[in-house]
Amino acid sequence: METIVIPPCQGRAFRVKEGQVFRIVNSQGEQTCDFFAFRADYLAEWLSPNHTYSFIRHLRPRPGDVFASRFYRPMLKFLADTSNGWHDMLYAACGLMGYERWRGEETWHANCEDNLRNAMYRMGYSIDVIPQPVNFFMPVKVAENGDFLPIVNTVTPGSYVELQPVMDLICAISACPADGSKDGWRINPADGPHELLVEID
Ligand SMILES: [Zn+2]
Repeated sequence: METIVIPPCQGRAFRVKEGQVFRIVNSQGEQTCDFFAFRADYLAEWLSPNHTYSFIRHLRPRPGDVFASRFYRPMLKFLADTSNGWHDMLYAACGLMGYERWRGEETWHANCEDNLRNAMYRMGYSIDVIPQPVNFFMPVKVAENGDFLPIVNTVTPGSYVELQPVMDLICAISACPADGSKDGWRINPADGPHELLVEID
């Protein structure tokens, strides 16, 4: 088994073959994981949450679901989940301009967009598009009128999701650098972002 450490506020990419099982482990708990997947031999085919939930017809992915590409093709099976079952497919990856707009920050802030770009760059690829991520371990709550409700991450240490590619993939993970809490919202640990682990069988 190979273990990849995704340090707090950083991103890593890795290759997985069709049928190979891997787990994303929330080793210390309460940490949001921005997850991206690309077809290994054609990076323009990426995992699309929008196409996935149009097909599975629910917003919180669960074991038994299959994540689809933007061409509606099966990419990845969701095999198991030991977390509290809250995963988000709606929120965009955090980005530099997001921190500027949300918080008025004018200095650079680590962000999931840059983490994805850098992780793919290390694999030898320059990407132009930041796909919508699957935000594992991040709660999403939507009121009947469509409002997003405040969310607090309560995932316990050691929780994991287990996935199995249906095609050869390059996957990328960002240990989301969003820090602090505001108006009852907190998607990462109160003492700052933590690491994530990937275990590849
Ligand atoms: Zn983020």
